[in-house]
Amino acid sequence: MTITPNDDLSLPDKLYRTRYEPDPAHPHVRVDSAKLRSARTRKLLKICPAEVYTKDPNDPQNVQASHENCLECGTCRQAASDEGVEWKHPDGGKGVKYRFG
Ligand code: SF4
Repeated sequence: MTITPNDDLSLPDKLYRTRYEPDPAHPHVRVDSAKLRSARTRKLLKICPAEVYTKDPNDPQNVQASHENCLECGTCRQAASDEGVEWKHPDGGKGVKYRFG
């Protein structure tokens, strides 16, 4: 099978190509809401390609993380680890599984 890039795909379509083995008891992405209230940090969170970070619908000043969708690219770890993002690799066997590579 040959996989070719398709720039016409939407983000959800691209993300469909991945499979996840979530570990609800041990989320590998956590946020410190108090630190994430700064405007600078909130901008940093927009760089997540999987839209893991979103505003809390009950309190828009808070940011919440949906660790189940993480692609493990490490971008947020580099960009915001000192500002309220705690990220570690998922426990063995859990996390993202790429279907095509
Ligand atoms: Fe998003 Fe990448 Fe951070 Fe996962 S590691 S939450 S995909 S920026």
